[in-house]
This record gives sequence, structure tokens and C-alpha cells, in this order.
Amino acid sequence: MSRWISDRPKTIVLQPTTLCPMDCEYCYLLQRSLKQEMSPAVSAAIAAGIEPSWAPVELVWHGGEPLAVGVPRFRKLLEPFEPLRLAGQVRHQVQTGGGTPITDTWCDMFKQYDISVGVSLDGPRHLNHLRADRGGHPMFDRTIAGVETLKRRGIPFSVLAVVSEHGVNQAVEVLDFLRDLGTTWIGFNVEAKEGANADATTPSRDRAVRFWRDAFTWCRDHPAMTVREVDKLWGFLGLTRGQRDADARHDLIPTIGWNGDVVLLSPELLGVRSATYDNFVAGNVLADDLATIARRAAGLSYVQEFATGLEKCKQTCEFFAFCQGAHAGDRFFEHGTFTATETDHCRNSVQAPILALADLLHERQTA
Ligand code: SF4
Repeated sequence: MSRWISDRPKTIVLQPTTLCPMDCEYCYLLQRSLKQEMSPAVSAAIAAGIEPSWAPVELVWHGGEPLAVGVPRFRKLLEPFEPLRLAGQVRHQVQTGGGTPITDTWCDMFKQYDISVGVSLDGPRHLNHLRADRGGHPMFDRTIAGVETLKRRGIPFSVLAVVSEHGVNQAVEVLDFLRDLGTTWIGFNVEAKEGANADATTPSRDRAVRFWRDAFTWCRDHPAMTVREVDKLWGFLGLTRGQRDADARHDLIPTIGWNGDVVLLSPELLGVRSATYDNFVAGNVLADDLATIARRAAGLSYVQEFATGLEKCKQTCEFFAFCQGAHAGDRFFEHGTFTATETDHCRNSVQAPILALADLLHERQTA
């Protein structure tokens, strides 16, 4: 397993609460209507288990809606990490869907703890119809109001946008809108079958290729903007062969639930049950430290199967050098096993960008 997966986490996902006030149609979270909140004892146990040799570790606070936990409790969850943050060993990031208003009090907290803020928004109003509250009311205006508060307080923000069937032919409109909104960093998640969204209709690879073609062309004209997938591919092409092979091992991405349970490889596995893999839980931080849980990974059947799937990818897939095997969770949610290889996610978010760029370069050469 150590050939494929590192036991030194670079990213840890933390779930301050399972609750989300929103009810987006494509949400994969199974427990989003339950109010179960992380205790300071759990966050203290997480902080105590972070090894100095892992630094710097990205701590991604992701829910539910992480802000639904409220400012006073969030501060208590952050406090145990302060010695690590001040020593440069951890950095905080929060990803909010806009279901809880971003107020000045939140902005004070973001500034005090140097928290990077990511906002989930799918582009202009008409592409956010899948993002609604529990009463079915659109979230768009409330999300924009939160962004305006961040801007007024001088807090930069990134955007994660879901590309659904409706938006896959509107890359330029989405990118123009998000640039005008004031972000300089955008990550696209092409809709995939995950968790509670197992019945998703995902765009075809051909339509995704057209999306990425437009995105590459747009990025060429907007060099100040970072689009995660575009940047990643350009970055890969700029590496030497040695640099590409350096350490491309997968991160375990420990994802720690409100009660301290830890799942590995894919945040989407948290709260999921399976006849084959039970609850995917590798341990609990109140019983074992994170390093012990990470070392236990090699004994878990789903981690072993993922390593087998990666080996199969390497043997069979022409996109492997760049891809390195993509996400574990998508294999399970689409195929019921981690030994599978190709998924909608890798077709649309790995293969499609490569094919789009190859098309554009070919056209340029033959023009
Ligand atoms: S593109 Fe898909 S099949 Fe190919 S290496 Fe990546 S995950 Fe495996």
C-alpha cells in the first residue's frame, strides 16, 4: 500500500456539524438534517494527534454547513489548534454553502484565525436553481450577500462550483460571472454520483470536453485567474519526468466526523454504510491518535482495494501519468468496489480536460 498511499496526511477534513440548513438537490451528505456537533474534546484530540513531521497540514472545515455550528462553538473548536497554527504547522480553511449568513462576527473569526474561505456557488442565478433551503427557496441572494460581506471586510474567497447537466455548456458565462464577483480561484466539480446523490445525471464526456475547451480558452485570456483543473494540467506539463514521478502518492485525507470517527481516502464516505465495508471507520480520535489510525489504513479492505484499483489504472489507462488514479469514493459510489477503474468523475474531470487541451493544441498546430 505504501507504494500508492502515503500515511502522512497533507489534508484533514473536519466536520464541525452534520447539519446543513440547505437542501441542495445534488448534495451527497446523508445526515444533513441531523444536528450533531463536534465537541471541543474531539477537536483537542485531533490537534494532539497531528505529527510535526506532517506540516504543513491543511485543515478543511466542511460539514454539513460548517458555519451552522455558530461562532462561539467554532471558536472553541479552533482553540486547540492555535499552537500548531502559530507554529505554521496547520492552516485552516472553511467551505461554506451560504446556508448560514456570513456576518461581521464570522469575518472577525476568519481574520483572527487566518482562515481561508471557500464559497460554494455554481455561477449566475439561473445555474443555482439546485441550491435551495429546506423550504425550497433559492439560496442565491443569501450566498451573494455573504460574499459581499467578505469583500467589504477585505477577505479573499475561493469558489467551488458544481457543473451540472444545466451548466456544462455555459463555461464562459460561469467564469465571467465568478470573475466579476471578485474571486481569483475557482474549482469545478463536475456532478458525480456520490452518497445521497447516487442517482445523479452526469454530463457525458463529450460535453465535458467542450466545457473544458471553453475553460482553457477563457483562462488564456484571463491570466490573473486560477481555475484549479486548468492550472493542475498546465503545471503537470511544465514538470520534468523526475518531478512528475517524485511523490504522487495519494493522501489518506483523514475525514473526522463530529463524534471523532475517522474515514479515509474520501470525505464522501463519512456516514455511509455498506454491506461490504461496514461504515468505513478506521478509528476514533478519542480512542487512538491520528498517526495510529493512519498506520492502521493498510489493514482496511477498502484501502487495500483502492491500491489494487490504482495498480489496474496504471496498467490499463493512457491518462494515468497525469491522473494517478483520481478519487476513491467515486469508484465505490459508481461500481460498489474500490478495485474499479474508470468513473464518471475521472472521465469528466481528468480525461476531458486532457482531451480538450489536446484538441486546442492540435488545432493551433494545424491552423
Ligand atoms: S482516468 Fe480514470 S481510469 Fe484512468 S487512471 Fe484516472 S481514475 Fe484510472
